[in-house]
Amino acid sequence: MKILKIIVSVILFISPVLALNAQITVNQDRLKNRILNLAQFGIQENGETERVAFSDADLAAQKWVIEQLNSMNIENHIDFAGNVIGIRKGTKSNLKPISFGSHIDRVPHGGNYDGCVGSMAALEILQVLNENKVKTKHPLELIIFSNEEGGVMGSRAIAGHLGRSALGVKNSTGFTMGEGVMRLGGDTTRISEVTRKKGDVAAFLELHIEQGGILDKEKLNIGIVEGIVGLKWWNVEFNGFANHAGTTPMNARKDALLAASKFIIAVNDVATSFDGAQVATVGRISAESGAPNVIPGKVTTSLEIRDLSSEVIENVYAAIQKKAEEISAESGVEISFEKLDTTADPAIMDSSIQSEIEKSINSLGLSYKTMPSGAGHDAQDMALIAPTGMIFVPSKDGISHSPKEFTSATDMANGANVLLQTILSLDKKL
Ligand SMILES: [Zn+2]
Repeated sequence: MKILKIIVSVILFISPVLALNAQITVNQDRLKNRILNLAQFGIQENGETERVAFSDADLAAQKWVIEQLNSMNIENHIDFAGNVIGIRKGTKSNLKPISFGSHIDRVPHGGNYDGCVGSMAALEILQVLNENKVKTKHPLELIIFSNEEGGVMGSRAIAGHLGRSALGVKNSTGFTMGEGVMRLGGDTTRISEVTRKKGDVAAFLELHIEQGGILDKEKLNIGIVEGIVGLKWWNVEFNGFANHAGTTPMNARKDALLAASKFIIAVNDVATSFDGAQVATVGRISAESGAPNVIPGKVTTSLEIRDLSSEVIENVYAAIQKKAEEISAESGVEISFEKLDTTADPAIMDSSIQSEIEKSINSLGLSYKTMPSGAGHDAQDMALIAPTGMIFVPSKDGISHSPKEFTSATDMANGANVLLQTILSLDKKL
């Protein structure tokens, strides 16, 4: 009896260890090679890659992804918005898919990792599940979203809020979004058919590089994204009085550029005076008449505010407006704000998915922190229709949207393993 007890307790003791060892993991070298192979599509003579959405390189990369899916016997198609969809069947036909993926289009002069890591990890996960003959209850759906960088086109279409007017917008290839959709194998006349309702997707997960320097600086493996910040844009106009720069005394001027300069400093002061992670930026300025010998009469600047909370954005904006009133009163320059229709609401990531990601990280013995995403992602739109989670891996020195962008193979594999374990645990739980 005593021996039996000892055996039982030994089994109980080692079973979590066995379970840990039984965890399947991604093939790091294969993941890295896929990243390098993908970077060949659009490679230039200087060794850097250009692959803006709708370019020939984008189309070739899309075709290559489809070949990869075919070679793994993963059923696939291009939807009407030009998204690549791959489905690995589940054992229960009534269940909605657990979906995951990212994008392979790039900003002009961008890097090899933004979007590509999540996309190639998604392929690797399907392959490693096939190799290990792992069956899941849910269908697993890979999504490579079309034209992420030019306005999260594919994910907006799936979430049902890609406006018709967006289809007329051109990107740097010279093609409009509508032409681009057709080039990618979609169909603009049927684009609304890709829209999914709440409940059509069991869960959505996106692995992505951080594109900031926090994980790299703090030497952490993984970021659990708590939400994607919302952003609001304004044009700010400063109307002073253009006059002779030689004959107008300093105390008789209404210098719009001087007022704008004080405003720019005030924006920075306000954003840093609040507790929290809100950011506010003036990124563009133009002055009229723009001559060295004329006091600037009219200046236009941009204003952008981002935060996880719409309320914080409004509070920061209100404080900036108050400062603008003070600047206006003392300078005699009129300041007006015009809100632009380029706003994105904050997207909060699903808390139970966040805790599943955390469990996966712990089971792999990795370090992590919970953090907001300051950049927009396809996950932002997917969060409108499905419980969504995002996993960040470090970007070296926080550099992104640059050919210098870099994430190590170990970091990519860590992120892919967290994604894989989270998919498997959600499959059991949902
Ligand atoms: Zn991206």
